[in-house]
Order: sequence, then C-alpha cells, then structure tokens
Amino acid sequence: MLLSRVLPSNTTLLPTSSHARVAPLRYRHVPAGGGAITVPVRRRFAMTIRARDAAPVLDIEPQPLKLLDRRTKLKIAVIGFGNFGQFLARTFAAQGHEILAYSRTDYSDTARSLGVAFFDDQNDLCEQQPDVVLLSTSILSAEAVLRSLPIQRLRRSTLFVDVLSVKEFPRNLFLQLLPPDFDILCTHPMFGPDSGKHGWAGLPFAYDKVRIGDSDDRVERCRAFLEIFDREGCRMVEMSCAEHDETAAEIQFLTHTIGRVLAKLDLKSTPINTKGYETLLNLVQNTCSDSYELYNGLFIYNKNSTELIEKLNDALDTMKKELFERLHGIFRKQLFESSGRSSIDAGK
Ligand code: NAP
Repeated sequence: MLLSRVLPSNTTLLPTSSHARVAPLRYRHVPAGGGAITVPVRRRFAMTIRARDAAPVLDIEPQPLKLLDRRTKLKIAVIGFGNFGQFLARTFAAQGHEILAYSRTDYSDTARSLGVAFFDDQNDLCEQQPDVVLLSTSILSAEAVLRSLPIQRLRRSTLFVDVLSVKEFPRNLFLQLLPPDFDILCTHPMFGPDSGKHGWAGLPFAYDKVRIGDSDDRVERCRAFLEIFDREGCRMVEMSCAEHDETAAEIQFLTHTIGRVLAKLDLKSTPINTKGYETLLNLVQNTCSDSYELYNGLFIYNKNSTELIEKLNDALDTMKKELFERLHGIFRKQLFESSGRSSIDAGK
C-alpha cells in the first residue's frame, strides 16, 4: 500500500537513520497538534512520518541501544565544523561512522566532499538523534553554543563528548547544563591538522569518562567512540580533567606562547639556518596556524596558565639579570685593570 494515500497532506516522509533501519519498531510520543512516529515499512527499511508544522518531538521512552550496531557504527554529530571539526570528521567518516555536522558558517560543500551530512539548523540535526554529540567549537564560544542546542530533541541517553583543549571548563559546563541522563566524556586529542596530517599513530589522546551510565549499552557506546582513536594508533591516556589542565598548561600553553612571542620577532629563513633555528621557525608556523581564539582560550580557561605566564616572565627576567650582571662584571674588570695599568704607567 502506498503510504502517501493514507497520510494527511501536510506530512513529509523522511528516511530514518541507518541505526533505525535495522532496529525493531520505534514508537515515539506524538504530542497533540503534530509530531512524529516511526512506522515499519519493511523489516530493513523504516520511514519517519513527520507533520511539516509539527511541534518539537520529545522522546518519552529511553530508546534501547543496539549493542551490535554500537560496535560497528556510531552516528556522530559534530557541533562546530571549523578547522578541527573537519579534521576529525574526515577520519570518523573514513572509519565508516555516520557523521552529521552543524556550524554557524555554511560548510555544506566541504561536508559533502567528506561524506558528512551538513545541517544549517540545530533542530534538524538533533532530530536525527545521534548517538554522540561532539562539541568542537572554540573554547570561548562553547558555553553559548551548548546553551543554544535544542537538547530536548535528542535521545535521553545521548553521549556528549568535547574535544576542547582545556578540560575542567567543559567538564563543569556539561555537568551544569546537561540533564543527568546524558553521558559525558571529556577528551583532548593532543594533535591537530598539522601534527596529525600524516596519521595519528603514536599521538597522545587524553580522556576522562566523567559520567558514563553503568548499563552495557552505554559502556559499549563510550568504548566504541574511544576505539576510533585507538584504531588509528593514538596513545590513549586516561586522566582527570584537573590533571590534564595542570599538565597541559606547561605542554601546550607554554609551547603556544613561545611560538607566538617568536612570531612577534618576525623571524626569517636565511641561507645559514641551523637545525635549532629551523625548529623555532617550525614552532612559529605550527602554533600560529591555530586560531588566536584557540590560544586565547588556553589562557582564559586554564587557571594554571596565569601562573605559568608569570613564571615565564620571571624566567626571562632572571636570565636577563644573569646576562647583564656578567656583562657588568666583564666591563668592571676591564675598567679597573686598564685604570690600574694606566696608574702604573703614570708612575713610571
Ligand atoms: P577554534 O578557533 O578554537 O574554533 C573554531 C570553531 O568554533 C569553528 O567551528 C567555529 O564555527 C566555532 N565558533 C567560534 N566562535 C563561535 C561562535 N561565537 N558561535 C558559534 N561557533 C563559533 O579552532 P579549531 O582549531 O577549529 O578548534 C576547535 C576546538 O578544538 C577548540 O575547542 C580547540 O581547543 C580544540 N582543539 C583544536 C586542536 C587544533 O589543533 N586545532 C587540537 C585539539 C583540540 P564557524 O567556523 O562555523 O564559525
């Protein structure tokens, strides 16, 4: 029977996700005045019937997670499809995961070329009910972006992941803003489009399972997400967000600061570059190819950065003091030695 014959004229047929295609019947509450219901058409093909003027759909029943599907494929929504979001999505898609993306800028062409479904409306993206929502916006905009997400359209057990370069801040944000049923995984792939352009093997990936439900399906979903990085050969490091920030201030903020300070010197390549000097030029290149917003976020949202920049300043002062004291010592010695000689000369 043709479904269109039995449906009201203001309904739209949408294919449901690949996950739904193999899932058994899924029933969703239809609020008065509109909504959606998933109807089995054939065993391996379901359609979502949605009134075009439907009110937001709220899942009333937690959806059962299919263990077998989780092992093989995740539906991941990348929020913030800029430099880093695209970089991650390329590998996620290459591993066979289904990737959706949303960003304030229209990246639909780039998304298409990566095999990613781009949404210019967050409501539409959330209604796709991804397994994982991955926050990849700038640190500075993370709170505003998270607050603007229509999370009521997501499945109640959604896993939220972030990849921000600081960790205590998104951890606290997630705990504060997300309903208790959502799982939370805070991560930091400690590499980027430049350092990871030839693959991720051996590169560190820090993570903290902040809140993962006990049930097998939730544990399995988190494991499946982490496996993406494990499969690429990343060095998986489990550590608390606080521990990460303490360590990352030195590793990351210091590196970026030195790179950006050197950039202010406008260093040029010369015919007599030494290896050390080349390292400095590369450092400038690597750090300044990230956005200033990212660098700024490392400073503002990691409390350890303030102390570190003071220490760096003190270290430079100490070094300058040492150098000038030595220089004065040499001048003084020369002065007295030469004045001693001239008085001897004068006594002759
Ligand atoms: P970024 O400058 O830190 O962030 C750019 C992203 O933030 C873009 O998706 C941009 O969206 C979005 N954004 C910025 N301001 C926004 C606003 N007011 N409202 C909504 N969205 C906004 O650069 P990035 O390199 O892509 O980094 C993304 C995240 O990954 C950051 O949290 C960073 O710390 C983390 N990370 C980056 C690296 C790296 O090597 N780059 C490595 C590890 C982790 P539009 O493009 O749509 O404007």
